[in-house]
Amino acid sequence: MTAAVSGEEARLRRARRLATRAFDTYERSSVGGFLYLIAWLPLLAVTGLAAREPWLASSATLAFLAAAILRKRFRPPPGPMQAQARWINAYVAVALSSTAIWSCMQWWVISDVAVAPLVKAASLFGTIAFSTVMAHLYTSVLRMSVTGIAVLIVPAVIALGLDPELHVLAVTLVFYTGYLATAALRSHREYMRRLDLDEALRDQRDRYEHLSRTDPLTGLCNRRTFTETLSAQVREAQWLSGAGVALALLDIDYFKAINDLHGHLMGDEVLRQLAGRLELAFEGGDFLVSRTGGEEFGLILRDCDEVSAMLRVEKFRAALGAQPLECDGIEVPVTVSIGVGSFNRARHRSDDDLYGDVDIALYAAKLQGRNRVVSVSMLSQDSVADTGTERLGRLTQIRMEGDA
Ligand code: GH3
Ligand code: MG
Ligand code: MG
Repeated sequence: MTAAVSGEEARLRRARRLATRAFDTYERSSVGGFLYLIAWLPLLAVTGLAAREPWLASSATLAFLAAAILRKRFRPPPGPMQAQARWINAYVAVALSSTAIWSCMQWWVISDVAVAPLVKAASLFGTIAFSTVMAHLYTSVLRMSVTGIAVLIVPAVIALGLDPELHVLAVTLVFYTGYLATAALRSHREYMRRLDLDEALRDQRDRYEHLSRTDPLTGLCNRRTFTETLSAQVREAQWLSGAGVALALLDIDYFKAINDLHGHLMGDEVLRQLAGRLELAFEGGDFLVSRTGGEEFGLILRDCDEVSAMLRVEKFRAALGAQPLECDGIEVPVTVSIGVGSFNRARHRSDDDLYGDVDIALYAAKLQGRNRVVSVSMLSQDSVADTGTERLGRLTQIRMEGDA
């Protein structure tokens, strides 16, 4: 089970990483095709190619333009990991098509005796600039930067090597390529380290977010999540028709006595076991089980009216009363008192109003002898008011009786 979860988690990470790399690759290089076109146009003017070879000049210009537009429009897909991987492979070819066209034109400029040496040097400067960008900016896909550098530099070095007067430039370019290769490798490693760091930070944030929403003893969600969920569901019930939302508050009967009899550690185990029973009885997306404090639990029942909620929690209460909890090999009989109610537009203006009513129902369940469920509609308006005002005095009395 754990291995399956961690396998799924690893797959998710790989997918997220690939999507980030695809996005970064596109963001960093999508306009690159137009830069080749911008560099090509003045070169076209100074080499006189347009006048001498109009077909070649216009074909090359159109090819630069088509490659630039294709590259800009070739966006990464939102789809699954395989689609992202396929996109990266295809994009490397799309992005390097402008590079290949530049490289062909560069070959022609260097080899053409009619082109002035200064113009050749200027075009070579463009090649060096493009390959430097490859090494430092296209860091997300190493094969893209390395292949791009090779496509730019290798033909240029060969073309320079063929002309004895330009040998010195060929050698300089070879040395510079050595630097570019190490820079490309280092930039790629730094990029991958940044991805690792981003991932570690995201993991840490998720862990803290989980901790801030979970009760450490039982693993149930804590009061913060409980209150937020109740508030959201009551707001939903205020505007939407339907069964609405019901709330149950559970409090263990005489828990202090369990602690006193078996010790606090056993008390903790009782809380854990009870949490497990609650999760088992109320699993699924329509329920939210929470430890709201000490030995008190909250249950939100979505799309549920008071009668249905009452039946469900009564079934749980009866089952719990009939079967003691098994804690460290010892059977501990545990009962709970439960208050239950559902959101009523005529009565409740907010989740606090509903919570207050259910809390009074729980209090009534305690007063009536514990180990029972009391619903809000079982209480008359008067008794609610009375219970509200009386509860402080009664509570004190109960505490004093317990202490005696
Ligand atoms: P009642 O039936 O009226 O609810 O009585 P009670 O004893 O359950 O209620 P009371 O409020 O008097 O006592 C609650 C006890 O729960 C007191 C407190 O020490 C204990 N408690 C609260 N949180 C924890 C916890 O995390 N672990 C343990 N072991 N005990 C806890
Ligand atoms: Mg309590
Ligand atoms: Mg209690």
